[in-house]
Amino acid sequence: MITHERADFINEVEIETILAQHKRPEPAKVRELLVKAREMRGLSMDEVATLSFVESPELLQEIFATAKQIKEDIYGSRLVFFAPLYISNRCSNECTYCAFRATNASLKRRTLTQNEIAAETRILIRQGHKRILMVSGEALPPEGFQYLLDSIATIYSTRVGPGEIRRVNVNLAPQTTERFRLLKQAEIGTFQLFQETYHRPTYAAVHLKGTKRDYDWRATAFDRAMEAGIDDVGIGVLFGLYDWRFEIMAMMQQIRHLEETFGVGPHTISFPRMEPAVGSDIASQPPHPVSDADFMKMIAIMRLAVPYTGMIMSTRETAEVRRATLELGISQISAGSRTDPGGYKDGEGDPNGSQFQLGDHRSVEEVVSDVVSLGFLPSFCTACYRLGRTGKDFMDVAKPGEIKYHCHPNALSTFQEYLSDYASPQAKSDGEKLISIELQHMDGQQTARALPMLNKVRRGERDVFV
Ligand code: SAM
Ligand code: SF4
Repeated sequence: MITHERADFINEVEIETILAQHKRPEPAKVRELLVKAREMRGLSMDEVATLSFVESPELLQEIFATAKQIKEDIYGSRLVFFAPLYISNRCSNECTYCAFRATNASLKRRTLTQNEIAAETRILIRQGHKRILMVSGEALPPEGFQYLLDSIATIYSTRVGPGEIRRVNVNLAPQTTERFRLLKQAEIGTFQLFQETYHRPTYAAVHLKGTKRDYDWRATAFDRAMEAGIDDVGIGVLFGLYDWRFEIMAMMQQIRHLEETFGVGPHTISFPRMEPAVGSDIASQPPHPVSDADFMKMIAIMRLAVPYTGMIMSTRETAEVRRATLELGISQISAGSRTDPGGYKDGEGDPNGSQFQLGDHRSVEEVVSDVVSLGFLPSFCTACYRLGRTGKDFMDVAKPGEIKYHCHPNALSTFQEYLSDYASPQAKSDGEKLISIELQHMDGQQTARALPMLNKVRRGERDVFV
């Protein structure tokens, strides 16, 4: 067993005490808080707790309206697209909610070869993707950790015509600082890891075997990643395992710890809700199910609490839920996902090899068309990462004024790339209409930046960004 520190920054007593103090929020206090939230400087744990207990429909609408305004001010209409790429479903752990767990005999096991990873990557490139989230179970093939490094290199080196993957984020087991350095050298974007539950007794009850049983090794993984120079980290909780209020308060503690220790909080927060999984009883009947109403409230509250942190919604959720959360603060979505290794090549994906059941089965083009019809601007931008604007540097750029002149023009040029290279004639025409509407709403300085970029892309140049 590797020795490491205890994650004392997660303080259950503090969480329970604060939650107990705010169970009956005063409407006047809530409104005062919403005014403060509009300044976009975030919320304290007390304030998050207060909002989490709001039940009045009127006040809830006010929370949603504030979240919507903040989302619009910071992100405008942009919505970043990515796709997961599962490379292996072999696992040495026994997480009761996951189909990949070691003793699940009903799962078809598969670890992709480098050729198979390249084949999957080519399919994702042809769909128009530029960002991949590489995901793996925790039993490595004989080549060990090198397998992960090779897989990242394979994804980056795969090309189809003008298309390529420009950012590989990973969702992998917690690593040692040394291995995090190797991941950094392999040029990963974000290191994403979900604590699953921050509640220690629940954590112990659902993780029955393997290194994942060690709560502290997992909760301190971001410290090691940051020490190794990976300053974009993505946090999350598997909602359904324990009380959602407790979990968002614990996420606030995790964020506070990272900010205090490294001067920067997480790059993204994910909101996975537990879905049915082959060979898992608990996944079909989560002990603490989160209703759609609470799910929306929680997303809106986190938008107010950490206005500049990216928020991710996966295809675990249905199209309907995903649409609703976009308004409330989600800034990145996956589309056309498969959660079984080799699932893109195999067409529909194999439910017996998949990690969990998907809620949204639409293709990338269908999701793009849907969000365009709702007025969102799909973005395939990866500029910040490639210009070294990560961690604190990213957060400095991520101020409303700056974002307008960087992210928005980049979103337009990468969306134009998508339309020119991958869209059907109808989607192209709808998308180009949206681009002209976006241009009309821009100020002079923005158009002066965006137009030349768009023209370059239309003339055939690729990878144009500021
Ligand atoms: N094996 C690594 C780990 O556990 O961190 C990384 C990959 S794991 C496949 C990615 C995430 O899937 C887990 O962190 C967990 O939150 C999520 N997951 C597992 N079972 C799920 C289920 N039944 N429904 C929704 N998400 C699930
Ligand atoms: Fe393995 Fe991760 Fe699934 Fe747990 S959640 S069984 S560690 S793949």
